[in-house]
Amino acid sequence: MTLHRAVACDTDGCAALYVADPRLGVDAVLHAADRAGWRISSGGITTLCPSCAQGSLPVLERGDCPRCCGSTFTSQNGDQCRYCGHLIPRPSRGWEEEQDTGDGAVGLLPVLPRPGSPEAGERPA
Ligand SMILES: [Zn+2]
Ligand SMILES: [Zn+2]
Repeated sequence: MTLHRAVACDTDGCAALYVADPRLGVDAVLHAADRAGWRISSGGITTLCPSCAQGSLPVLERGDCPRCCGSTFTSQNGDQCRYCGHLIPRPSRGWEEEQDTGDGAVGLLPVLPRPGSPEAGERPA
């Protein structure tokens, strides 16, 4: 079971989410969110997304923002988050290349020998 560790915003109706590397521990995730602009109280009891911490609008629509998962719009310099204002620099090229993770591994049933099937072997002369 692989779970992404995520930090959610405490503001009612705010859909902000900070998704961290699943290999990080809880403390490391909170630190990472804090560095990304989240306001984390000690122990992570209350968490505010960068937008709410700035007193801006709560995140209402999810998108591609790596800081708060808010939706982005295309600006001159790249994609910018509507909520926390984070700018995702425009990649030079190759962005449209999608990674196919492969779908539906086919489970193969093991072939078992039939139990107790008598072998009609030829009797040696
Ligand atoms: Zn928020
Ligand atoms: Zn954002």
